[in-house]
Amino acid sequence: MIELPKQLTLAEWDARYQSLKAAGHREPPYGGPLSRHLEDGDYRLQRLTFDNAPASLRLWNFLLTEEERLRHARAAGKKLVGTMKDLGTVPIMAYAFDEIVAFYPDGAWWIPCVMELSAGLLDIADAMGVDQSFCPVRAMIGAFVTQAHFPLPDLLTCSVGAVCDDFSAIAQRLSGLGHSIHWWEIPHRRAPEQGEDPVVLPGGFAATASDVAFVKRELDRILSVLETLASRKLSDDALSHSIRTANDVRMAMARLRRDVFTADPCPLPGLEMLIVEMLAIHYCSDREETLQVIYDLIKEVDQRRRTGVGYFAKDAVRVFWVNPVADLRAMNLLEEMGGRICGTEYLFTHALDPIPTDIDPMTALAQMALADPMVGATQDRAHRIVRDIVQFGCEAVIVSKIPGASHCALEGGIIADVVSGQLEMPVLEIEVPPVSDPVRSSLKTRLEALVETVKRRRKTR
Ligand code: SF4
Repeated sequence: MIELPKQLTLAEWDARYQSLKAAGHREPPYGGPLSRHLEDGDYRLQRLTFDNAPASLRLWNFLLTEEERLRHARAAGKKLVGTMKDLGTVPIMAYAFDEIVAFYPDGAWWIPCVMELSAGLLDIADAMGVDQSFCPVRAMIGAFVTQAHFPLPDLLTCSVGAVCDDFSAIAQRLSGLGHSIHWWEIPHRRAPEQGEDPVVLPGGFAATASDVAFVKRELDRILSVLETLASRKLSDDALSHSIRTANDVRMAMARLRRDVFTADPCPLPGLEMLIVEMLAIHYCSDREETLQVIYDLIKEVDQRRRTGVGYFAKDAVRVFWVNPVADLRAMNLLEEMGGRICGTEYLFTHALDPIPTDIDPMTALAQMALADPMVGATQDRAHRIVRDIVQFGCEAVIVSKIPGASHCALEGGIIADVVSGQLEMPVLEIEVPPVSDPVRSSLKTRLEALVETVKRRRKTR
C-alpha cells in the first residue's frame, strides 16, 4: 500500500517509526527514532514538521549523527581535516585519501538553531569579541572552545581573499586562539580583459586562465599539506576518481532538484530539500553514504511522481529561495503560508555543477573553486538565479537575509533589480534569526503578502 506524503511532528514520526519497525523496516547503523536526538539537545526538532518517508528519516538521522561519525573515524585511525569556507573544493581532495575524513566546522552555523541556543555558542563568541554584527558562523568559535560538538581536527584549511569579512575575521580569531590554519587564497573572480585568455567555468561564469592557474597553485599547496598528513603522495588517478565520485553526488542531486522542483504536486517539502542539498558540500563526513541517502530520496520522489501524490494546494506559489535560512523552521512556515520551494541558491551552486573530467584534475578543482557564486560580483549570482528561475518556472523570489552577514547588506537589492528587471517578478527580502519564534507573526504576514501578490498577478496574466 502506498503511504501518502504527510508532514509529521516529532511525536507522530515516533509513532510511525514504531509501526515501520514492526513491519520489518531496516535501517543503516545510524538509524533510530528521530526523537532520540532530543537527548543531544536538538530541541528545534520539536517545532519542525518532517516528511513521512523512510528515506527522509534516513536523511535526518544521517545529518544528526555526523559528530558520532567523526569520533568513530578518529577511533578507527583516520585523520580529520576541517575544511573551512570553500564549500566543496578541499573535501574532494581530502576524500581522495582513504585515511582522511573531511568536515566543515562551518556547519556549527546551524547549532544555535538546532539546539535552540541552549549550547551557548553565540554567548561564547560574544564573550570573545565576535558579537552579533557577525553572521551565525561565529558559533564555530564556541564549538572550538567547548569541543562539545565535533572533535578538534588534525588539520585545518581555510580559503581567504575573496571571501566574506565575517568568515575571515572569525577564522583569524580561531588562529589567534592557537588553532593552526593552512590558508589558501581565492582571488576575486573577474571577466577577462582584452588580451587575457578566457575560461568558462563550470556553471557558466567567466574567468581568466591566469586566475585559474593561480588557484591551482594554491590548491597544490593544500594538496601537499594533505599528503604530509597522510604520509603519502596522491596519484592523479586517485584524484580523478574522487572527482568522478563527487560528480556522482552532483548528478544525483541535479536529478533530485529537477524532479522535485518541477513536479506537480510537490513530491518533497522544502525542509528536506534544504538538508539534502547541503550534503553536496560536506557529505556529512561519509561520501558513499551521502550518495545512498540521495538515491533513496530519488526513489521515493519517483514513486510519488508516478502515482501522482504529493504536497500542498494545487495553487501553491512557486518560490525561488536565496541563501540558506538561519532557522530551519522558516521552510515549514513558507509552506504553511501557501508557498512551495521550486528553486534555490544556497550560496554554493559551484558544489552542484559537474566538475570537468577532461582536463588536469587540479585545474578542474581550481575552476570549480573560482565558480563559487560568492567570490564574484553579486550581479553574476543574480544572473545565474534568473537562469534557474526560468528553468524551474518560479513565480517569486525570497532573499533570506542572514543576520549580521556582510554580503547581505546590499545583495538583496542587486538581486531584486536584476530579477525584476528581466522577469518582472516579485522579490521579497526577509531576515530570519537562528530562532525565529519572536518574529514569526511578522514573517507570516510578509510571506502571506507575497503569496497573495503572486495569486493576484496570475489573474491579470
Ligand atoms: S557571511 Fe555569508 S558567506 Fe560568510 S560565513 Fe556567513 S553565511 Fe557564509
